[in-house]
Amino acid sequence: MQTAIDPTTGKNVKSYKLISNKKLNKTIFGAQAAFQEWSRTDLEERARLLREAARILGEEQDALAMLITREMGKLLKDAKAEVEKCAWVCLYYAQNAERFLRDEYIATEASKSYISYRPLGVILAVMPWNFPFWQVFRFAAPNLMAGNTILLKHAPNVPGCALAIADIMEKAGFPKGVFSSLIIDEKRVKKIIKNRVVRGVTLTGSVGAGRAVAGMAGKALKKTVLELGGSDPYLILDDADVIKAAQVCTKGRLLNNGQSCIGAKRFIVMRQVYNQFLEAFKAQMEEAVMGDPLEAETALGPLARQDLRDQLHAQVKKSVKGGAKRLIGGKKPKGKGFFYPPTILTDVKKGTPAYHEELFGPVASVIQARDEEEAILIANDTSYGLGSAVFTQNIERGEQIAREHLQAGACFVNEMVKSDPRLPFGGIKNSGYGRELSHYGLREFTNPKTVYIE
Ligand code: NDP
Repeated sequence: MQTAIDPTTGKNVKSYKLISNKKLNKTIFGAQAAFQEWSRTDLEERARLLREAARILGEEQDALAMLITREMGKLLKDAKAEVEKCAWVCLYYAQNAERFLRDEYIATEASKSYISYRPLGVILAVMPWNFPFWQVFRFAAPNLMAGNTILLKHAPNVPGCALAIADIMEKAGFPKGVFSSLIIDEKRVKKIIKNRVVRGVTLTGSVGAGRAVAGMAGKALKKTVLELGGSDPYLILDDADVIKAAQVCTKGRLLNNGQSCIGAKRFIVMRQVYNQFLEAFKAQMEEAVMGDPLEAETALGPLARQDLRDQLHAQVKKSVKGGAKRLIGGKKPKGKGFFYPPTILTDVKKGTPAYHEELFGPVASVIQARDEEEAILIANDTSYGLGSAVFTQNIERGEQIAREHLQAGACFVNEMVKSDPRLPFGGIKNSGYGRELSHYGLREFTNPKTVYIE
């Protein structure tokens, strides 16, 4: 059984039965059978269905957003925005995939030689709960256009979302087997990966999950793409507009109730503006109203699960024991729901969780740096490498740091890190490998086949 629990109240929303092994096998082979047909459809037909999915997302936006909020607690307004972004990624690939998949001619001694991007087959997607629609659609839209078929193993706390997405695909007219949601536990993932018809695996989630799934895929020689979260550093330089930086940092930290892989997590502030920034940041963070995610004025809803709140609180306590100071928050509220207040830790020391680990909640680690060089050193002193940001009024200086010095998959200047269908998304180091979105994301699970005609 998989049970969705409303994180705002702690009450059960609905339980879903796990599918049988027989149904699982049937679905896997159904995905392979569907691939034979789907990979031969023309791109115009694939685009038409994706546009239809976008239309349905728009039509059902309110109900889908409510489902997301009930299952994982994000603000209703953010859930609506998430559904809208899913429609955008569908329309983006419907419009651009033909261009990205076009044969690439290369001059050689041959009369004709080129690369043709061919689909790989059935791809397994193991997905997390934090953006239960977006994480799935940003993978599904390009891969459906590429001609692959998809098996989704979603996180167990969002089974309603998993089934709602499959329902949208069906209503849009995708043939049976092209996209299937599997309500299964993690134990059966290995069996799916080992199945000969499965040609690739994508996973978004923790480093531990990535290691486990990539290990199984490696053994079976299946390609993987991993998006494993981060501990994004935000650098506040001595010439930054600190008020603007504090606003952006607050938004970046509280986004999705603090549970985003590209959330702003470590704030590395040069000593010249340290006090000024901290004062503005504290004021902004304190202003955030914590409460019911359905209410319009709420800025911070609950964490998605009780165990995630316990884990976050343990990380905070350990960091304080290791020398960090609690400027605000850091206490588990009483009452129902899995709430955690906006929290700022200062004097964060090397060797503590707040310095090294991903804090998946509204907890900011603030670290002071002597100068620019030390700020960059601290920023890169992490096992992660997903996003990063730098705040300065000298754009040239910011761009140079962004381009050359920060070790991450993306670096934003004077803006928070965000994903965009037009730009590649992914990390380096323990944040994973491979890319999603843009033409890079579309080609990850294709075979760039060389065709050579004498
Ligand atoms: P997990 O990484 O454990 O879960 C993500 C997905 O991976 C789920 O579908 C999960 O399914 C699956 N999974 C995990 N382990 C395995 C395995 N051994 N074999 C097959 N599938 C597996 O995330 P949690 O929900 O437990 O969150 C823990 C931490 O992970 C967070 O605090 C955060 O730091 C990080 N995280 C990062 C995310 C990101 O966006 N990068 C998203 C979510 C979490 P199942 O639960 O059934 O095991």
